[in-house]
Amino acid sequence: MTRPLRILLLYADTGGGHRATAQALAEGLKHRYGDAVEPVLFDGLRRYAPFPVSHFDDMYPWMSGMSKTWGKSWLALNDPDVARRFMKGWWPWVRSSAIKMAQEPCDAIVNVQPLYTYPVLWAMDHVGVRKPFVTMVSDLIVVHALWCDPSTDAFLVPTDMSRLHALENHIPEHLIKIVGLPIRLLFATPPEPKPIVRARLGLDLEKPTILLMGGGQGLGHVHDIAEAIGRSRLDAQLIVVAGRNKKLKEQLDAANWPIDLRPYGFTPEIPALMDAADVLITKAGPTTICEAFTRSLPMIISSYIPAQEEENAEYVIKHNTGILAQEPERIVDTLRAWLGDRAQLDRLSRNSGALARPRAAIEAAEEAYQVAISGKTYFHKPRRESLLSRLDRFFGT
Ligand code: UDP
Repeated sequence: MTRPLRILLLYADTGGGHRATAQALAEGLKHRYGDAVEPVLFDGLRRYAPFPVSHFDDMYPWMSGMSKTWGKSWLALNDPDVARRFMKGWWPWVRSSAIKMAQEPCDAIVNVQPLYTYPVLWAMDHVGVRKPFVTMVSDLIVVHALWCDPSTDAFLVPTDMSRLHALENHIPEHLIKIVGLPIRLLFATPPEPKPIVRARLGLDLEKPTILLMGGGQGLGHVHDIAEAIGRSRLDAQLIVVAGRNKKLKEQLDAANWPIDLRPYGFTPEIPALMDAADVLITKAGPTTICEAFTRSLPMIISSYIPAQEEENAEYVIKHNTGILAQEPERIVDTLRAWLGDRAQLDRLSRNSGALARPRAAIEAAEEAYQVAISGKTYFHKPRRESLLSRLDRFFGT
């Protein structure tokens, strides 16, 4: 029997979306190719990066923390030349860890986190071990320049708009494929009927159900929104997902508002919670939005990471699947209007369902597998080895 094709899925826990994309790709690969593949989820930052880069995932919630500085830095770096120069600046610190990632035993690498793209491709070049390398963009619309090393072997994007952004950032057209944003395969199965799933979750079967989320890290002013809804006297039940935000979970557990409140910490039950819900209030995280499309959920976008997620919010609004409302009072007013107007809710729900791409994980897996199995890689002109590189080789890093 031939050995399975070992595919390394490089991710980091900066937010919940990159891991979700990697998991979805792993599911897609197993679903499509069974024992012929061995997908390996690999957190390169935690495994190999030097401190403090290794703990970037812990810093991400307060760094991105919706701050204007994050948005400005993100925009300043979003240029192919600037991004390359920025990474060159980091290279001396991350070189040895990037080399270890490049040398991980595998037949191909699929990258779902932009920070890895340049260093890992350079590292392969550096040590002369070139494996097929697929870039899977795990944002919905924008494609930051840090993703965009044109020497990748395939560049998979979720939407037409992200394709245009990739072209702007100099990715060769023939490398780009639109595959949708990979989401877990549970989202490719029909939703559970609301009464059944609500009964299973111990919810009232009839009451309008509101789901409030802030991505994997529980970001955004989730507590303020929950409190405004909790005190609004809306005739509804409220599920709030705090994700990995422990403080938020404690605050919700201690809350005493006149509403049936269901607080969750980080939970694998998002598909069921979305099935149970009539409306989703969420930060504009790409994965959550795409998951919600498969459940035809109308959405209130309550926050977005500046610059990075702004266009996701615009996408939701442009397709009439929801609105952007950041102030808790406006969110409550919107809920009151929507829950009192079934026809409007149904319209928004249909528009949302029309954007669903539930098989994206399988489409992405097929593209990645083809690149991995072909073993063909971008042709690099042999370059003169630098002194640093020769020393590295000599000392075996
Ligand atoms: N998620 C989850 N359990 C939770 C909270 C979030 O599985 O308790 C998942 C959610 O379903 C989605 C991902 O985490 O798949 C969040 O990704 P997104 O891109 O929306 O936002 P990010 O966390 O990256 O900012």
